[in-house]
Amino acid sequence: MAKAQLLIVEDSKTQADAIKKFLKKQGYDVTWVEDGKSAIQVAKTKPLDLILLDFILPDIKGDEVCRWLKLNQSTKGIPIIILTVKGNVSDKVIGLEAGADDYMLKPYNEIELNARIYACLRTKALQDELREKNHQLEELLSKVEILAITDPLTELYNRRRFQVVLEMEFQKTKRYKTLLSCLMIDIDRFKLINDENGHQIGDFVLQETAQIIRKTFREVDIIARWGGEEFVVLLPHTKKEDALRSATRVLEKISHHKFSRIPDKKITVSIGIASAPDPSIDTGESLINASDIAMYDAKDKGRNQIKTG
Ligand code: GH3
Ligand code: MG
Ligand code: MG
Ligand code: MG
Repeated sequence: MAKAQLLIVEDSKTQADAIKKFLKKQGYDVTWVEDGKSAIQVAKTKPLDLILLDFILPDIKGDEVCRWLKLNQSTKGIPIIILTVKGNVSDKVIGLEAGADDYMLKPYNEIELNARIYACLRTKALQDELREKNHQLEELLSKVEILAITDPLTELYNRRRFQVVLEMEFQKTKRYKTLLSCLMIDIDRFKLINDENGHQIGDFVLQETAQIIRKTFREVDIIARWGGEEFVVLLPHTKKEDALRSATRVLEKISHHKFSRIPDKKITVSIGIASAPDPSIDTGESLINASDIAMYDAKDKGRNQIKTG
């Protein structure tokens, strides 16, 4: 196991030498500095496990050094033991209020000093462990959160996430009287693609179609996999004519795309568009329904086309 890194802040060389010698004998790695400024410098750059801090220093006072170290994000976890000749209760209070973890008087008893250092290091080890566990938990939580809103096959938002965002966007549209358009995109005769090429090829087609859709729209547009071979796109601040333009682009891109596993097969989509404000659309759900009805209209009219609601 690596040795614990201790920093001694002590302006008296004789005293520093004595502490250093003793602590090295106890198996610690020891660094020595003579003043407060150097102490802060070392604490910022070196991974320390504990600081033994003298109160009376030639530059900055010990309690100020202590306060600085305890306020700074990168150094606040380092335990500090103030080691001083100043034995008044008021001095002890100043030291502890500045954030010191312990306070010891000089001349010190070596066995006691060693025991106090050990106690501080034990607490720090537990805190480090806790912080690491916390970090791992946060990472896990954010992964779980991403999984909960993502469709695993296409990596687009899933339907549940889309419904939440849809209601939020719809409320914004209503409140600020802005525009909102919705596209329902359904792959034509997808069952046939599966039947003729197998389900796995069908999955690749879904993934590539998702990529084409993602590349066609803006960062602010919200794209999700609505169902098996259906995708939905929400376009904030977009009027129907502009939504139609984007829909035309995506329809053409898909119909001209050479799908990697079945380059000779032409794949098309049917798209329905609905937009708010519209007197018959008063919820996010009714916006989706209207785009779905328009999409079925496109299917009825022969597929590979766009209809607006
Ligand atoms: P239409 O032009 O009327 O939309 O016809 P369609 O064949 O595309 O529509 P239908 O609803 O009849 O069939 C959709 C098919 O999509 C049926 C289902 O097996 C397939 N499907 C749904 N989810 C997945 C999936 O995750 N992977 C694959 N490979 N196929 C899927
Ligand atoms: Mg001193
Ligand atoms: Mg279909
Ligand atoms: Mg469908």
